[in-house]
Amino acid sequence: MDKKLLIKKAFEAREKAYVPYSGYHVGACVLTGRGKTYTGCNIESASYTPTICAERTAIAKAVSEGERDIKAIAITGDSEWTYPCGVCRQVIREFGKDILVIIAKSQEEYREYTLDELLPNSFGPEDLD
Ligand SMILES: [Zn+2]
Repeated sequence: MDKKLLIKKAFEAREKAYVPYSGYHVGACVLTGRGKTYTGCNIESASYTPTICAERTAIAKAVSEGERDIKAIAITGDSEWTYPCGVCRQVIREFGKDILVIIAKSQEEYREYTLDELLPNSFGPEDLD
């Protein structure tokens, strides 16, 4: 897994963020089991509620292209360390507890977690079996 490439693509996606209200830019890049990458940025709306985070944008792009095997997601934002919000943690969780979540401060400095570490004791698809 080329973590540096995922981080680079997350940084590139962050530049595309549409954030006229908050001014807070976030970029994400998902890696799938087939080795494909899908990027996302946050997209705000004047009516606020429809705003979508970068992580969910990237996952929506991956899933809408037929990908469900998500291995990793790299995230970067305007804070020193930008962690996924609760809604995004739950959406990532939908595709696995072991997904690697990379929180990138810079191209060189990043932290790694499993989704399970960021959302312990979570509710997921197997709870509905
Ligand atoms: Zn979010």
